Amino acid sequence: MNKDKLKIATRAIHAGQQPDPSTGAIMTPVYLTSTYVQSAPAEHLGYEYARSGNPTRTALEANLAALEDGKYGLCFASGLAAENTLLHTLKSGDHIVTARDVYGGTFRLFDKIWKQLGVSFTAVHAWNLDEIRGAMQPNTRLLWLESPSNPLLTCADIAGAAEIGHAGGAKVIVDNTFATPILQRPLSLGADVIVHSVTKYLGGHSDVIGGALVTNDEELHEQLRFLQNALGGVPGPMDCFLVLRGTKTLAVRMKQHCENAAKIAEYLAQHADVERVYYPGLVDDPSHEVASRQMSDYGGMVSVELRGDLERNRRFASSTKVFALAESLGGVESLINHPASMTHASVPKEEREKGGLRDTLMRLSVGIEDVEDLIADLDQAIAVSRDSSSSPATVAG
Ligand SMILES: *Cc1c(COP(=O)(O)O)cnc(C)c1O
Repeated sequence: MNKDKLKIATRAIHAGQQPDPSTGAIMTPVYLTSTYVQSAPAEHLGYEYARSGNPTRTALEANLAALEDGKYGLCFASGLAAENTLLHTLKSGDHIVTARDVYGGTFRLFDKIWKQLGVSFTAVHAWNLDEIRGAMQPNTRLLWLESPSNPLLTCADIAGAAEIGHAGGAKVIVDNTFATPILQRPLSLGADVIVHSVTKYLGGHSDVIGGALVTNDEELHEQLRFLQNALGGVPGPMDCFLVLRGTKTLAVRMKQHCENAAKIAEYLAQHADVERVYYPGLVDDPSHEVASRQMSDYGGMVSVELRGDLERNRRFASSTKVFALAESLGGVESLINHPASMTHASVPKEEREKGGLRDTLMRLSVGIEDVEDLIADLDQAIAVSRDSSSSPATVAG
């Protein structure tokens, strides 16, 4: 049987992992070691020092590469460590075209760190291919996409954007954290490098911070592998083990995340108190068509604005009982987050608004609890936020 032809739910469980040859242990051991004994100077079994390589990490890197239909995977201590390592392929004078609506920490990395080092960037509405085309410069080295985006859940036409990026001589980067490889595999759409915060769905249980890069480009991979070791932002073996445990259930978890999120988006869309729902699975969502083309389902994230002011929306976010008010996403438990004051507070208000992110928007990471409990929780929180409102307009709905 050709192992490369295995379907993704099977690859999630088996890729990169063999029973331990010395004991038969079916799970990859956690190799808690910093160094490896050599039989003679520079003669070893492929591992010499654990920043350069660790077998638990190797298993995870192979697993994530296989999930993304990629040849090469590299793991890092966090999603931002992965991104920062990738950005070290640039030099002063280079330029990035980035989606405006990216993870707040990604924007901060461009704006507060790399700009000071002479790397400029232009932020665009990435759902608009003409805007991407217009922002490309002769020195543009990276086109950076995040689809679906965070927190507006807009989708960029990855294949169309990749063509524009490549025509301009840029590498095309896709942050695939929100979709996961279960729903979308950007390498097959023309992307050069996939970025992941494995902290989110890949880990899946809100108990680990990690990041990854996956590519099919051998030369770029060698450069990134050099940078991984030279910069040193590697994950520990226990963290790699936890993510390997997470990816085994990724396919079933994503199915339930998507099913629950779709029901919640529909519930919210028909609610009289709701101003706007952001979910690419809704047929009238602006990203529905492109999402349907490049994703197999629409994901577990839903954003919503209730009618009324910021205070009303803040009361809503403070009134849920099953949805916990917290940053992050992608775990089995449901979370609610206020991007403007939490995850995206590092993006200046003016920049947030240019990207269409309003202060009243709340982001839901829909977990895999029973969806009836989740809807009942949102329902009571919407009612509570209305009842204590001082503004009559919010009561009318
Ligand atoms: C969380 C997140 C990151 C950053 O990852 P960390 O693991 O928190 O460093 C990057 N991109 C997206 C889309 C994220 O959600």
